[in-house]
Formats: sequence, structure tokens, C-alpha cells
Amino acid sequence: MFSSGGSKKGIYLDYAATTPVSKRAQEVMEPYFSDVFYNPSSLHIPGQKARGVLDKARQAIGDIIEASWKEIIFTSSATESINLALRGIVKASKQENPHIITTNIEHSAVLSTCRDLEKEGVEVTYLPVDSEGFISAGQVKEALKENTVLVSVGYVNNEIGTIQPVVEIMETIREHRMAQAKGAYALFHTDAVQAANYLDINVKNLGVDLMTISSHKIYGPKGAALLYKKEGVELAPIITGGDQERGYHSGTENLPAIVGFAEALKETQELKEKENSRLKELQDLFIKKILDNTSGVALNGSRENRVPNNISLCFESKDTETLLPALDEAGIYASSGSACKSRIPEPSHVIEAIGKKDCARRTIRFSLGRSTTNKDVERALNGIIKISK
Ligand code: PLP
Repeated sequence: MFSSGGSKKGIYLDYAATTPVSKRAQEVMEPYFSDVFYNPSSLHIPGQKARGVLDKARQAIGDIIEASWKEIIFTSSATESINLALRGIVKASKQENPHIITTNIEHSAVLSTCRDLEKEGVEVTYLPVDSEGFISAGQVKEALKENTVLVSVGYVNNEIGTIQPVVEIMETIREHRMAQAKGAYALFHTDAVQAANYLDINVKNLGVDLMTISSHKIYGPKGAALLYKKEGVELAPIITGGDQERGYHSGTENLPAIVGFAEALKETQELKEKENSRLKELQDLFIKKILDNTSGVALNGSRENRVPNNISLCFESKDTETLLPALDEAGIYASSGSACKSRIPEPSHVIEAIGKKDCARRTIRFSLGRSTTNKDVERALNGIIKISK
């Protein structure tokens, strides 16, 4: 159909949904499908060889995010990591009525888990965002209570790309902990899935207690993700079995995917600076040309404080159900927002939350990536401008 990003046939502008596996990641994975296929939990020599490879991948990721090997739990997807963080913290807490704080624009992995936890008696506060999709540390401060066990705020929103003040939020939580004589110890989890390609994911700099990253959003394979858990944080497993991942995530580790994940993370950090400025230029060009050449098309979210690959546009006189097939027809592959929801024609909760109810069914997310060229953007823009008329 297209060659990882753009050929004459089609232009892939949905890198926030998933990315192709990079050549480097593919190459390092190769031996672990059949040559070194062993189970890292097997005690024989080949098994221990696989264990060594797993340890090396864990260490490599730890070096990048500045965590120790003990603080990294491998899972199969960010959805699993998020479930483990939210459910696992609640389960491990000694609170009779645990309270969670989150925002009303989180990915469904967070929101659906919170709603499910509410059914089990957990109290959840959904902080409202402003018109650009931000929450403030002040809002978190006001919402923190004696029984707050967890604050979970996405670092970057997957639909509109806005970047939350994670460091300031962490500082507020720390102050709350210090001021508190008794009660729960509020922890902070950030869903960094859409941040890992572009922003600082060093856990010491961020100060977070828990952080989620997914391999398939950073040019690694599907089937691998991680939950960073600061040493000392009490977490209960939600999957029981053979006690892999120090008991936090039972099930045989997906060695090829984890090796590819570690390599992809390394590569994305090496390319970060260059890609950030290259994509920022493309993003600026994209937004300017669209706004200059169309009427009734508006940018959702912040102009400045967003990751450089995200362009979320509201087409005031066209709905998503009309736009997506027209874009497909023109060979422009984008989405209505969250990939998991894009087949369900329901309004975007994120666009509604920023006060643009009329745009909730009229929004397209274009997300650029490593293979997006100037030519791709120019060609896509011509198509989008035509379709918007
Ligand atoms: N969180 C965010 C912000 C995402 O964008 C996604 C994927 O779209 C997820 C979580 C879920 O990731 P995964 O597909 O690895 O479960």
C-alpha cells in the first residue's frame, strides 16, 4: 500500500496510532524467534542465555530512563501497564475508601479502568481540562485528599498532543505528602505513551512514581510495553501465575519483542533532537498552510505546547464519517482520534472536554512520523484542502 510512510500510493499520517518497526529494532530481534527461542525462566544453560538477553534489554531501558533493573516491569501493552498501575496501587493500598485523581481527557485505558474501579467502590475525581487541554498543578492540589492513593495524568494527550505539566504536578503531590500527618500516600503515575519519542522520559527528572511506555508507538514491535515502578512503591499484581517480572506480571516474557523495544527506545532517544526540529518544521508548515487556505477549519489544542507530530483539526462543516473515507480515497491515512475508538462513531471525549462539542464529530488527527517527508506533507495538504471545501 505504502512504503512505511509515503509512496505514490498513499501517505500514512497516523503515527500516533502505531509506528512501523525500525530496521534496527527488526535486526536485533531476529535471533530470538528461533535461534535463541528459550524461556528466560528455564534453569538450563540455553534458558539462562535467554535470561541474560532479557536482563540486558531491561538494563538498556533502565539506563535510558534512569531506573534500576528492579524498577522495570515488562508487560504486553500500555493498556496492561496502566491496568497494573491503577488496579495494582488500589489493591496494595490499605485505604478503606481509596481515591484516584485523573483527568477527563485520558486514553480509554485509564478512563475505562477508573470507571471499572468506581464500580468496586473506588472514588475517582476527573479533573476538567481548559480549552487547550491542560490541567494545572493547582487543580491537582485542590483535589488531593487524605485518602488519595494515586494521581494518573497522561504526559501527552493522544488526540490533541498537548503536554501536561508533569514535573509541577509531581511537586504538588510531594508537598501534599509532606503536609500530611496521616492518611494515604499519594503516588503519581504518568501515561508517557505519546511522549516517549519527543520528551524527557528520565524518571529522576520527572520524579514520578510510575510511568507507562509502549513499544509500538516508538518504532518497536507490538506486544511489549513497560511499567516503571519506583523502588519501594507497593504494587499488587493483577495477573497471577508463574511469578515472572518479580511477580508483578506473570506469563513468559516476549523476548524478541522486548529486545526490539529496548533497541527502539535507544534509537528514538538518539534521533529525538533531530526529529523534534524536523517534525516541528513540518507541523508548522502543515498548520499554517491549512489555516491560510481553508475556511471553517480550526486547530484543536495548543499551538505551542504540543508534541511536534500532532495536528488535530476540526472541520466545522464536515463530519468525521464523511471525511475519513474521502481522505482514504485520496490516499491520506489519518484517524478520528484514538485508534481504539476510531471504528466506533461516537464523539471524541477529548474534543468535548476542551469545550468544542460541535467539533467532537468533526475532527481528524493527522500524526507525522519518522518517514514523513516534506513532499508527503505537501501532497497531503493539497488533498486535505480539496476535501475540506
Ligand atoms: N495511552 C495512550 C496515550 C495511547 O495513545 C495508547 C494507544 O493508543 C495507549 C495508552 C494504549 O497503548 P497500547 O496499544 O500499547 O495498549
